[in-house]
Amino acid sequence: MREILFFLVLFGTSILQAQTTYIHAGKFIDGKQDRVQNEVTIIVEGDKIIDVQRGFATPKGDAIAIDLKDKTVLPGLMDMHVHIEHQSSKKRYEEGFRLNEADVALKATVYCERTLMAGFTTVRDLGGTGVNVSLQKAIAVGHIVGPRIYTSEKSIATTGGHADPSNGVRKDLMGDPGPKEGVVNSPEDARKAVRQRYKNGADCIKITATGGVLSVAKDGQGPQFRMEELNAIIETANDYGMTTAAHAHGAEGMKRAVMAGISSIEHGTFMTDEIMQLMKQKGTYLVPTISAGKFVAEKAAIKGFYPDVIVPKALTVGPQIQNTFAKAYKAGVKIAFGTDAGVSPHGDNAKEFIFMTEAGMPAMEAIQSATMEAAKLLRIDDELGSIEKGKIADIIAVDDNPIENIETLLDVKFIMKAGKIYKQK
Ligand SMILES: [Zn+2]
Repeated sequence: MREILFFLVLFGTSILQAQTTYIHAGKFIDGKQDRVQNEVTIIVEGDKIIDVQRGFATPKGDAIAIDLKDKTVLPGLMDMHVHIEHQSSKKRYEEGFRLNEADVALKATVYCERTLMAGFTTVRDLGGTGVNVSLQKAIAVGHIVGPRIYTSEKSIATTGGHADPSNGVRKDLMGDPGPKEGVVNSPEDARKAVRQRYKNGADCIKITATGGVLSVAKDGQGPQFRMEELNAIIETANDYGMTTAAHAHGAEGMKRAVMAGISSIEHGTFMTDEIMQLMKQKGTYLVPTISAGKFVAEKAAIKGFYPDVIVPKALTVGPQIQNTFAKAYKAGVKIAFGTDAGVSPHGDNAKEFIFMTEAGMPAMEAIQSATMEAAKLLRIDDELGSIEKGKIADIIAVDDNPIENIETLLDVKFIMKAGKIYKQK
């Protein structure tokens, strides 16, 4: 009884003490509607948005006001494709032999902070070593500063395929990674690999449906999974309520993944008209990652930046991604914002908005792809993705109206995640 009373007292005071904040937004983009509104007050209590009102409401009682009257306020941004553990550099390929898990984790804390400080309050991490799960937990409890992470833990690949962790390694070090390490060669393996990811703390499943640019292997485009393996992966992921993402450059592997019911295609480089129609029918998202395409094409021109086997792949795949995005958007394929940061530098995520608008997507739709559409892809649109009553208070602000000046998103001036302010200038 005493414990219950004690609990009630504690619980009661915490409710009383939840800070109420009135955010006065000069301009306001809610993440759902197509128009920019003027003079809006967002009322935040604890980690939630409790109301959105027209005009500048006067704070009541102990509530405080935040003056963003000369800013445009919008929902916290979401990047659906990052690799939070790493970042490309000339040394990236030797790091696997030198860095311990703790080294990876400590370096990654910097990437986590940069990502949040760029206004990205939620990210989907599509593949690392498993340190990503620890980073997610450390951020969730406030030990380190970073975005809310939804992670696939380790990508699932086939032997010798993109994301086989032993590619390009001396034979005596190669071993024979299996489902536990995320490498599969049968439907049974596939099911086990998904269940292992679930056990390891993954929120979603990432597969490498075709070859990839940055693996030490010749082929960057061919299919790498059989249909029965894809079906086994997606059916098992569905059993655990996990969404699925497929890295895909070439058409055949991409088509198979879409047919098997994948939630999103990543990159989508050589997507055909037929695949675009199929994606529309199935409601599959494209996560463009134009940033990664531009970055690898640029770096491949620098001698020695990548191992030789990677250079021709980077030069064929890289420049194509933005063109394909333009076609897919025009065809009506659903788009969720994603950069592949980790290939491109963490913190530069918002450059993708510039590349998307360059390719013909209106700024408002590009913003929605990083707010409401991303939340739908993660199946968290009841909690995040827009600034609405009852949702989690992920709120950012920029100097200009991004519909008129998209580059303003490169310099986010105010950042609130779950009601806590991380940046205000
Ligand atoms: Zn990636």
